[in-house]
Amino acid sequence: MPEAAIIDGKAFAAKLRATVGREVEALKTSSDFVPGLAVVLIGNDPASHLYVRNKGRATEEAGMNGQEFRMPDTASQEQVLAQVAALNADDAVDGILVQLPLPDQIDASAVLDAIDPAKDVDGFHILNVGRLSTGNDALVPCTPLGCIMMLKDRLGDLKGLEAVIVGRSNIVGKPMAQLLLAEHCTVTIAHSRTRDLAAVCRRADILVAAVGRPEMVRGDWIKPGATVIDVGINRIEKEDGKTRLVGDVAFAEAQSVAGAITPVPGGVGPMTIACLLHNTVTAACRRRGVDRPLVD
Ligand code: NAP
Repeated sequence: MPEAAIIDGKAFAAKLRATVGREVEALKTSSDFVPGLAVVLIGNDPASHLYVRNKGRATEEAGMNGQEFRMPDTASQEQVLAQVAALNADDAVDGILVQLPLPDQIDASAVLDAIDPAKDVDGFHILNVGRLSTGNDALVPCTPLGCIMMLKDRLGDLKGLEAVIVGRSNIVGKPMAQLLLAEHCTVTIAHSRTRDLAAVCRRADILVAAVGRPEMVRGDWIKPGATVIDVGINRIEKEDGKTRLVGDVAFAEAQSVAGAITPVPGGVGPMTIACLLHNTVTAACRRRGVDRPLVD
């Protein structure tokens, strides 16, 4: 069996970001506005600071208006809700993202549900969750949106395929299931209580691993020729004491069985920020009653 094709998320994301850049340019010319994305960052989590910095750079490169609002890790619930309310009321802001995780004193679901659903570019508001699950137009969470884009690009029509998702989180597993269902896949969501996980995974034409356990999915869990999307990002220590990133799938083993696979890093990760920019254009066009420009 030949080695699996590598699904190059980095290249795909670069293409998507370039498309967004052209859309922004077209909106500026045809409709006289520039989409705006506001990011709220609370506390000092170093990973969150890095993500927000990368988001800021990508927003700027796409020609959008990016704003960042930093709050101390002592910020109260009321202060955070007041910041969200101010951004909801600001007409120049099309997308609002509150970077997770939030400090313990803040109720994350109350904050996410305070965001205007029309500006909810992370797709975590209960209304967008409901719209996605009922097959209506929704702002879709960025990571699963990136996964479905790569799957459709690789496989074309997904109709009738067996899809297994390992992981049932609100930000990845569940919305991924809804997106695959909307593409007419037969969907199984597996989790920590699933019996004989290996056998369940072996049924999959499409296997999505979103678990957070380094290299848990082994090569012999994979159906020959399957398409494997590895969402996991895990930092592990090597023998020399340095660290490296691995996914939830044992990549080398999987590569000798699968038909195609996303690497870690360079697979799903880069698509997440590109989809955030894509969602900001979606939100901007819908809010302002403008058609998305055709640029490709
Ligand atoms: P999460 O909220 O911790 O959810 C993990 C899911 O995996 C849960 O549903 C859990 O099951 C399941 N699980 C845990 N151990 C398991 C086991 N032994 N067997 C089967 N299922 C098991 O994680 P998440 O936020 O979805 O993230 C998952 C991974 O994706 C993490 O590595 C995260 O860093 C990565 N991630 C990457 C991106 C990106 O941009 N590429 C974005 C988001 C997340 P229960 O529900 O039964 O506990």
